[in-house]
Amino acid sequence: MFYYEVSILNTPLDNLTYQSEEQLKIGLLVEVSLQRRNKLLNAVVVKEVEKPSFKCISIVNTTEKYYDEKMLEIASFISKYYVCSLGEALSVYTPFYNTEKHTLKEEINCNIELSVNQQKAYDFIDSKKVSLLFANTGSGKTEIYIKAIENILLQNKQALLLLPEISLSPQMEQRLTKVFGESIAIWHSKIQKKKKETIIENLLSGKVKIIAGARSALFLPYKDLGLIIVDEEHDDSYKADSKPRLNVKDLCIYIGNKYDTQVILGSATPSLSTFHKVPYFRLKETFFKSEKKISFLDSNLELNDTIINKIKETVEKNQQVIVFLPTRANFKYQICKECGEAIECPFCSVSLSLHKSHNALQCHYCNYTQAIPKNCPSCKTGTIESYRLGTAEVYEQLQSIFQNKVVEKFDRDSIRTNTALKKVLKQFNDNKIDILVGTQMLSKGHDYHNVTLAVVLGIDSILNMTSYKVREKALSLLIQIAGRSGRKGFGEVLIQTKNEDFFHNYLDVSDYEDFLKDELKQRVDLYPPYFRIARVIFSHKNANLAKKELDEYINILKNNVEIQIIGFGECNIFKIANNHRYEVLLRSNNITKLLSVLHSIKSPLASIDMDTLF
Ligand SMILES: [Zn+2]
Ligand SMILES: [Zn+2]
Repeated sequence: MFYYEVSILNTPLDNLTYQSEEQLKIGLLVEVSLQRRNKLLNAVVVKEVEKPSFKCISIVNTTEKYYDEKMLEIASFISKYYVCSLGEALSVYTPFYNTEKHTLKEEINCNIELSVNQQKAYDFIDSKKVSLLFANTGSGKTEIYIKAIENILLQNKQALLLLPEISLSPQMEQRLTKVFGESIAIWHSKIQKKKKETIIENLLSGKVKIIAGARSALFLPYKDLGLIIVDEEHDDSYKADSKPRLNVKDLCIYIGNKYDTQVILGSATPSLSTFHKVPYFRLKETFFKSEKKISFLDSNLELNDTIINKIKETVEKNQQVIVFLPTRANFKYQICKECGEAIECPFCSVSLSLHKSHNALQCHYCNYTQAIPKNCPSCKTGTIESYRLGTAEVYEQLQSIFQNKVVEKFDRDSIRTNTALKKVLKQFNDNKIDILVGTQMLSKGHDYHNVTLAVVLGIDSILNMTSYKVREKALSLLIQIAGRSGRKGFGEVLIQTKNEDFFHNYLDVSDYEDFLKDELKQRVDLYPPYFRIARVIFSHKNANLAKKELDEYINILKNNVEIQIIGFGECNIFKIANNHRYEVLLRSNNITKLLSVLHSIKSPLASIDMDTLF
């Protein structure tokens, strides 16, 4: 009889020991049941062990699928660093299986000529295992990516191009497919199961050699991954918001340093953490001589005459406009004029947003929806007034002002599928849309050719959030949006803000590289990248229970001299979907000590977010 430790997928359980009459390969996917239960669970054989002193039950079934040594190693790192079980860490991976090899060898020739500066950038990244391509919008980083991919394919290895979810633009997809043909496959969460199976089959057989896709594409079965490119590396969507709360970008840096895989991170506005730890090449030259006029508007968040006139001037010349707002819906807050109470979701401590098109109020956290009340639900008599303009309201107002122009909305409410995304982007680039109103979705690396005016509204609400990262978030977003205007020639950017000094300094006087250097100085002795910060949230339907759990842990944690408690109490959004949430933020420059504290938190109420973005 053989004895094995197995990790049960998708469970927080520690490894369990099972027996087997046949000898099994480490990494094999098997099926087991927990004692006295019949339900079969997927599990991975992780270690052979001596016969234990207790009685074991047998592994029920074996499969043809397996996880290789590298997957097991990286999953083990994930479970230690992001504080989860090995079973939870392994469940992010798609396992290997044996399949027939594809032997046809296609010719690869990307036919790309790099400019002198692009060539310098390419030589730089080629000489490093992990590097940052700090490249201004329009400086041609895609050509460098393609060249690097071609180089890796010539060595008979595989390549991965990671992009934030929904940011693989149709233009980029066409471009890659044109160069690499059937060797490339596109991977994201909206692809259907059957199609995913075909991609895995082709990746394993060698027919597909390049994957371009979102976060989960890192966890496919690669036999010989020689290159990972993380495009738009500053994007927060590389951080998972459910367990394991890993940051795929940081994980790629780890992989690049540990294994024989080259890693290139690319962005026009790199994250401070990457800028600090990864050698970079600054590519500034742009292909199109572009002249940019930036003006500021110290007004409230509204569509006033200055903004409308500017838009009018532009569309009358048959040029295109993008309008950015951070908020969806018509209005974010509904407040009673008499008693001053806001209408909140009954299950979350957030205000309900007004969606005129559905004639309803909706919670953006739990999707609770209700009819619009005639009078205030608190005082029963007051009338309700709406505040904080959202995309839907601006879209409707612009539609009624510019009746002979085409206005479209570009946010999560209107773009729900990849097909819808492609359709709107195509129409916009074919000049069939004059004004595009959208949220952060506008900034995600899409290429708009004919935009000459970008209007940025409500950027201050990002600057006013509570996080050590707000300046970085707001400025990087602003630069990304501003970069969409004037890709060919003249472009104008109109920014509504009460913080002109801050933005003006880094948009006009100096640039993002100066900002990163200044911001680094501000964070010394306080924040990442000099310290690690972890956020622990205790949540429960019963607020008292959650509070009690927090208090108990605070008592234990405050005696630990190796870590600092930066703050604790109710979360900014106290209640989400009826769960009451308390948090504690922990800081340390000793990673081992911090992790050992985090692993000692065994409360079932706790969720741990290492390297939190909050
Ligand atoms: Zn009222
Ligand atoms: Zn809610």
